[in-house]
Amino acid sequence: MVVEIVSVGTEILMGNIVNTNAQYLAKRLAHLGLDCHYQTVVGDNPARIKSALDVAYSRADAVIMTGGLGPTKDDLTKEMLMEYFGKAPVVDSQVLNFLEERAKARGFGKLSDGMKKQAIVPADSLILYNHHGTAPGCVMERDGKICILLPGPPHEMQPMFEECCELYLNAKSDKVLVSMIIKCLSKYDAPISIVGESPVADRLNELLDGTNPTVATYAKEDGCIVRVTAAAQTYEAALELLQPVVAKCRERIGEEFIKYVKEDE
Ligand code: ATP
Ligand code: MG
Repeated sequence: MVVEIVSVGTEILMGNIVNTNAQYLAKRLAHLGLDCHYQTVVGDNPARIKSALDVAYSRADAVIMTGGLGPTKDDLTKEMLMEYFGKAPVVDSQVLNFLEERAKARGFGKLSDGMKKQAIVPADSLILYNHHGTAPGCVMERDGKICILLPGPPHEMQPMFEECCELYLNAKSDKVLVSMIIKCLSKYDAPISIVGESPVADRLNELLDGTNPTVATYAKEDGCIVRVTAAAQTYEAALELLQPVVAKCRERIGEEFIKYVKEDE
């Protein structure tokens, strides 16, 4: 299955906030062994969100969207998506009760229309309850296309993804990706002619051409990183593929120039 990430929010587009949601999701998808070839950022504008979806579904089976689920007028992702997927809006009594109790406890009395809007969910969809905020997420499916809709705030989005979506996506993925990182000493601790990215890459040589596992080098201020990644049916099988290649890389780099070796979480 191929997945795309669509981040909704004018704040991201204007450079007011950094799109850490896309970074987080991209990392999790890689761990799940799901391919993600594109990420899109789009403002809070229904026509442009629709156009971003049309493009995404021309290339992918599933889209993960974050943002625009809240109570304010500019939060219109959910409404737009229900229309896109032809899902009727229905009131989720569990969410409504929760919002009413919460308003009572805070001395607000009646719920505002904006707050009530959050209890409206798409019919025939999987509702993802929000244990760290108010707006629920959801998973909509139609004609083989999947959309996972998650709230924008990272402290709400991340637990919702880990608690509900990983299991759902895992069932759709036929492989697991496991990576090991070999961190080399920094240029301050050893000669750059030995621990810099290009001398390390030279020593790894043909190992960099492997396809499973893949071996890649990354230059970092505090020392070059070598990432070895294997894909397999199970975690154990991926580790088994990784180990001999990691051992070869270590030998080529030289143990004395390695700071540490660990699994990439
Ligand atoms: P809310 O109920 O807070 O309105 P929401 O689901 O409507 O949530 P947005 O209104 O789009 O989400 O964003 C709310 C806040 O969440 C932003 O101000 C920002 O702090 C954070 N946020 C949203 N999208 C992202 C993102 N892609 N990366 C990092 N933070 C984000
Ligand atoms: Mg909002």
